[in-house]
Amino acid sequence: MSRLRSAMDKGKRVGLQIVETVKPKRKKSKTAVKEEETNASPSSTYHSFHDPADVLLLRSQLLNWYDKDKRELPWRTLALTESDLNIRTYAVWVSEIMLQQTQVATVIDYYNRWMKRWPTVQDLATATLEEVNQMWAGLGYYSRGRRLHEGAQKVVSELKGQMPCTVDSLLKQLPGVGRYTAAAIGSIALGQVTGAVDGNVIRVLCRLRAIGADSTSPAVTEALWSLANTLVAPERPGDFNQVMMELGARVCTPKAPLCSQCPVRSHCHSYCKVQVKQEKNSKKLLGKPDRKTSALPDIEDCSRSSHSGACLLCPSEPWDHELGVQNFPRKPAKKPPRTERTLTCVVMRPGEEGKAEFLLTQRPNKGLLAGLWEFPSLLLEEKSPEMKQKRALCAEVSRILGTHLTDSLFQYVGEVVHIFSHIHQTYVVHSVCLKGGGAHTQTENAQWLTGCALQEAAVSTGVKKILKLYDAVHGQKEQASKEGKGQKRAGIKNDKRPQTAKKTKLSAASSGGKQLSLSSFFNTVKQES
Ligand code: SF4
Ligand code: ZN
Repeated sequence: MSRLRSAMDKGKRVGLQIVETVKPKRKKSKTAVKEEETNASPSSTYHSFHDPADVLLLRSQLLNWYDKDKRELPWRTLALTESDLNIRTYAVWVSEIMLQQTQVATVIDYYNRWMKRWPTVQDLATATLEEVNQMWAGLGYYSRGRRLHEGAQKVVSELKGQMPCTVDSLLKQLPGVGRYTAAAIGSIALGQVTGAVDGNVIRVLCRLRAIGADSTSPAVTEALWSLANTLVAPERPGDFNQVMMELGARVCTPKAPLCSQCPVRSHCHSYCKVQVKQEKNSKKLLGKPDRKTSALPDIEDCSRSSHSGACLLCPSEPWDHELGVQNFPRKPAKKPPRTERTLTCVVMRPGEEGKAEFLLTQRPNKGLLAGLWEFPSLLLEEKSPEMKQKRALCAEVSRILGTHLTDSLFQYVGEVVHIFSHIHQTYVVHSVCLKGGGAHTQTENAQWLTGCALQEAAVSTGVKKILKLYDAVHGQKEQASKEGKGQKRAGIKNDKRPQTAKKTKLSAASSGGKQLSLSSFFNTVKQES
């Protein structure tokens, strides 16, 4: 391991030599820290770190904690052990894109499979978008996978296979790489001395420096980046940024933060504020006079706030005692997700060897779930009667198949709810069973797939939920039909109708198993038919 680490250090040193914008790797003098600090926070020193000794102490406390307590994660191991700068940058880029909006625990398995299949940017560039989508299936926010793929092709075709090697060029050259991602890749893979501010870091910094104004406002955003750039450890910028994120993910959590285990609580204004409040309350309870005898500073010490009320970083709302340190950060009220209803139809035909096959159509290459396959669907403008829905679906499925079907073939199955980050989607599911399968159209955007193949192909979680509902309802009907026949044969009169699907709703998805290429399944289906 020590050999690998030294190889990596060597690689990083090489990386640093070719980085245009990187700052020199030397300890900042106290004056330098002070200068940055003054620039960083023109509004009030209360929201910054104005004592260079504090900055040095905070860095060492955080890095010590990281060295003892950090989680072993595959991308961290690669960043440490991979001596090839290009591969290291690619590996960190993949991890950062996967980690956008997805939990670490979920990403690990996807990351390992991805890196095994496409260990270099050149490998990824040769993949098809369909293979990328299929590998990404279930991870959500599918445009991320598409952008990685686009980026890899760009690196190979326009940059001679060389990953960009500065924060600026990462930002400019790679699609889907914003300010944070460029800084994270630059610091972790290339050793560039830059702070990196993601959601976890926003929370930690806002609490440390009692920044309570809207955390998405330009003033707060700039203050946070400035703070991050001041605090980042020049000797270990990648580790420093990772420890800030790790602290936010494991200790300074959105709810129930573990302040008593926090390595930097002595620097934390919000923690101090809570302590001061508690001290005052206990004194009150004990009937002692409310004099400020505590050594702890109070949050009202922000000079701008108390003198003019003009501080752009102080909270505009009063302190909420019940929230404690969770008063920070403040976010603007979240927009509720918009509600959508989508008509969707499971079109089934008997395939070879009696296996059912399902019709799938491909979504447009842009927008939600771009390029993924789904059952034929139509967005519902409003809640319409079932008959009208059947007519609309009938027309759509007839159009796709280039044939004429009648409404009466379509059966209502039930509803499936699927929550995207910004859409509360309800799929209103119908089904139609076509007789004598082989003759129906198969085009580039409309394909037939067996149920098994569909489970393992590049389809969204919503499609899997719909199929699960269909199977459940279909199974119930078959069972009821068998029982009906059995009772008829036995001469028993049955007044009970088969259980209908009207009330059936499904909100839990099952997925898993090995993901295979959709093309290979289409080929199999083509060969079989
Ligand atoms: Fe976060 Fe608490 Fe640590 Fe402050 S003391 S940084 S609020 S965990
Ligand atoms: Zn203030």
